[in-house]
Amino acid sequence: MTRPSVDTLVRTSIAKMTLYASNREPCAIDLSDNTNPRGAPPSARAVVPQTNVDLFARYPSHYAADLKGAIAAHLGVGPDEIVTGCGSDDVLDSAIRAFANPGGALAYPDPTFAMVPYFARVNDLEPRPVPLLGPERGYDVDAEGLLAQRASITYVCSPNNPTGTRTSAAAMERLLAEAEGVVLLDEAYIEYAGDSLVRRAKSQGRLLVVRTFSKAFGLAGARVGYAVGAPELVAAVEKSRGPYKVTALAEQVTVAALKNDAAWVETGVRDVLSARERFVAFLAQRGIASLPSSANFVLVPVRDAAGQAKALRQRGVAVRPFPGLTGIGDAVRISIAPWELLEPALPAFEEVLSCA
Ligand code: PMP
Repeated sequence: MTRPSVDTLVRTSIAKMTLYASNREPCAIDLSDNTNPRGAPPSARAVVPQTNVDLFARYPSHYAADLKGAIAAHLGVGPDEIVTGCGSDDVLDSAIRAFANPGGALAYPDPTFAMVPYFARVNDLEPRPVPLLGPERGYDVDAEGLLAQRASITYVCSPNNPTGTRTSAAAMERLLAEAEGVVLLDEAYIEYAGDSLVRRAKSQGRLLVVRTFSKAFGLAGARVGYAVGAPELVAAVEKSRGPYKVTALAEQVTVAALKNDAAWVETGVRDVLSARERFVAFLAQRGIASLPSSANFVLVPVRDAAGQAKALRQRGVAVRPFPGLTGIGDAVRISIAPWELLEPALPAFEEVLSCA
């Protein structure tokens, strides 16, 4: 009997996919991934050297109970309204699996966070992109278009990656009122915008707000994310996600940061917002327009995203190229650092960036 080739053993949806990858080559000034350029929060520095390594001999708690308690206190919600995971990637993937059967659809604005259609495919859902409305509508989501998909899951990211734009309250209210399935609201960058819907999540019932410690909290390498929602939704995500997804060390570090580093986070956010204003003005003075950003990055439409990102890298500055974005065309996404960290990159931008 001939056995099938190994290729044919791979789940069909996964066999067709390309592995996610972005350029992680070290670079003098890395403005490519929207993490916190000030580094890890002070309490991470304190907790890690004091950690008893024997912690690693045992499993962590099943569902990160201490972390849930600390997040609940931070947000003013109940611990039963929180599910944690190995980064918000893991939470999104688990939620997508929890709220749709294979063959269902996931509607999302285009462009948005690239891992969302990826996780839809992994979970055998049909990704249904709905273009963002144009510049005259502030790149708002097309609520009508999203609702028309009648999808099991509707994903919205506000502020949106990679555009930096936010979803209007009117569009959000329509989605919450009329979506047939679950609404996943990704607030990865909410600390920079400040209009979170976490407090609405429980009473709303079908809204799950997904957040991360990878951005304003400076803990991308710890891999901790979470979602807030009604306890029944949260319980479904937790089942789909399974136990032990937050490591013992990551839990300790994140709990310490939540308890002690609020002021550090706030200062970082303030510094980024003022640097963003100066950076956008710097670009505008050179005739370079960027999309209106509510996040710690700006999206700049350019003539040749790959070429300009490469030229910037040769000058020691890493940005993220986005070739051919729907409705926008080529663009580079530039993370905003506090001004003293951003300023040394300005000559490279001056030399390289040119508009579409
Ligand atoms: N959501 C959005 C919108 C993001 O930009 C990112 C990271 N780039 C994530 C989720 C995932 O972040 P993490 O897994 O580090 O929490």
